[in-house]
Amino acid sequence: MKINITFAALILAMKKEDIPGSALNVQKGIEQPSIISPYLKICKKKRLILSPSEYIDGILSGNKVILSQAITLIESTHKDHFETAQDVLEKVLPYSGNSIRIGITGVPGVGKSTFIEAIGNHITSAGHKLAVLAIDPSSERSKGSILGDKTRMETLSTNPNAYIRPSATGLNLGGVARKTRETIILCEAAGYDVIFVETVGVGQSETVVKSMVDFFLLLMLSGAGDELQGIKRGIIEMADAIIITKADGDNLAKANVARGLYQSALHLFPLMDNGWNPPVDICSSNDQLNLDKVWNIITKFEQFTKNNGYFVKHRVEQHIKIFYEWIEDCIKNDFFASNNVNAKIKEMIPLIQNGNITPYQAGSLVINEYKNNNN
Ligand code: GDP
Repeated sequence: MKINITFAALILAMKKEDIPGSALNVQKGIEQPSIISPYLKICKKKRLILSPSEYIDGILSGNKVILSQAITLIESTHKDHFETAQDVLEKVLPYSGNSIRIGITGVPGVGKSTFIEAIGNHITSAGHKLAVLAIDPSSERSKGSILGDKTRMETLSTNPNAYIRPSATGLNLGGVARKTRETIILCEAAGYDVIFVETVGVGQSETVVKSMVDFFLLLMLSGAGDELQGIKRGIIEMADAIIITKADGDNLAKANVARGLYQSALHLFPLMDNGWNPPVDICSSNDQLNLDKVWNIITKFEQFTKNNGYFVKHRVEQHIKIFYEWIEDCIKNDFFASNNVNAKIKEMIPLIQNGNITPYQAGSLVINEYKNNNN
């Protein structure tokens, strides 16, 4: 009897789930993988300590996480990152260059993002790897466009053969340009054979984009008769093709009229030094109209300029220009970092203000100060 009472007390003290065979037993489930890639975790932890060879191996194997980290490294203004970044760039340089670099411009709202997404998916499904970079010197818009690009280029951003990188922020146009050129090298080394550099058609950034691409595409809206008003003549002159966007629905007829107008306008411009006649056409990203045609224009241009030797010549010219720009930048930075120079500038300003010296004389004295202290 005593034994039975003890047994009953024991049963009562046990949780129902602990009783062997109880239907209330909870089985240990299958362990779920973390929603964050463990690789990303490693990279985050190691963020500042990746060695140049880790960056290089990651880039050359096409690893997007490492590629992004390497781009962040070259965008960094931290002194310690500069040398590693230069080392990485130098090592991957032999693997770069094998791509067609395409600049895309047009006023906000012309449909750049929608076009890039539509033609981007077309290009990747033809077996290419596409990198989309942006040049946008205004930090205000950059902050917006990071989000904007991610949401607008939704399918492209999850496409395994596409890589989207927003513009470097917090830099002046020259700085953004340099970082974008270096980013192009990294993307090419990572296997991207089509590079888009997008910019807004309102300012100086078009000239900068033109200086780093092989092909310059101008997207235009069909307007209410004053098509040539919205964009500067200089930008039209730079274009290797003009494409009128949103040629669908009621807009299709207007787009065809605009095409005629631009075609006549282009006849007035002198022939480009690459011998290429810039075509004008219409497209619709919504209706997928002419996306293949636009891609055909680009590949035809590539073939044409490769055959006449312009493609390589143009890239070499771009390198020579970068070489001079880099020397200028370095000298300028060195000059204004000098304490003697800054002291002399301070001394000269009141003299100029009081009319005791001409700006030229004052400038020469500052330069002499620099030269005397650097010889
Ligand atoms: P962006 O500022 O140049 O990048 O322009 P977006 O790609 O953001 O497009 C601006 C607006 O035009 C959006 O509302 C798009 O939906 C619209 N849009 C873009 N492409 C087309 C098109 O092919 N047809 C029509 N009807 N609308 C378009």
